[in-house]
Amino acid sequence: MEKKTLENRHAVITGGSRGIGYAIAGFLGENGATVIIADINSETGKTAVSQLRKEGKDAYFYETDVSNPDSVQNMMKRVHETVGDIDILVNNAGILDDRGVLDIDPSSWAKVIGINLSGAHYCSQAIVPDMMKNRFGRIVNIASMAGQTGGFKAGVDYVSSKAGVFGLTKSYARYCARYGITVNAVAPGLIETEMTKGWAAADEVPLGYLGSPLDIAKTVFFLVSPLADYMTGQVLSVNGGLFMY
Ligand code: NAP
Repeated sequence: MEKKTLENRHAVITGGSRGIGYAIAGFLGENGATVIIADINSETGKTAVSQLRKEGKDAYFYETDVSNPDSVQNMMKRVHETVGDIDILVNNAGILDDRGVLDIDPSSWAKVIGINLSGAHYCSQAIVPDMMKNRFGRIVNIASMAGQTGGFKAGVDYVSSKAGVFGLTKSYARYCARYGITVNAVAPGLIETEMTKGWAAADEVPLGYLGSPLDIAKTVFFLVSPLADYMTGQVLSVNGGLFMY
């Protein structure tokens, strides 16, 4: 049988129970990776894993709150006990806040930054030692077009968190490069998921339609595959032409 591109690779996908993260888990699994969904929602997480297994993929779920370093460490402990070292991390978990600047209180600011930005740092910090030891790793951070444009609907907390993800990506990329670890970001535009339900804006997109979670999954696959071995510290925009720079 032909060897799949990601065979023997172990991939953690945060927020992988639904939406973009689930599509990423499915696509990496399809291409041979063992996928570990680290998500706060155990109900959707268990359903996601049983669906992936039905499709013949090697999948696990560990309930994790990425904004809590103890929860992330606990997830890693369980992953090491069951699966082993991690080769691929996709920091995808995120929440949206679409309120105006004056309506965002300190606790919602802290929550959005805590999940979208600090969560990516806590997970990367927990997983990078595996990658350094093995002299191989692929990290992909799911940022957002909102971090590039200031956001059309997204609030300042979301926008700031995603702009922060670009800096986080470059800083980790620099630090990790000498260990054979690449770190890149994907900046999706408007993708049809629960997060963007009701945002009818397809006619504003130059390509004429909203993106699908699979569009992002394919880009993540590219970045973690040997096709992108010489890329690090980069941002790939996947937005149907909605923002060009
Ligand atoms: P989604 O459908 O809302 O899914 C997000 C997943 O993350 C959910 O399963 C959610 O669990 C989980 N999650 C929330 N807080 C978490 C935490 N503290 N720890 C672990 N998991 C947590 O979102 P999506 O549209 O797929 O977006 C995925 C990523 O893409 C996000 O980072 C988002 O900012 C980014 N993005 C999306 C778009 C878009 O158009 N959809 C555009 C640009 C960027 P619950 O079920 O409990 O909520």
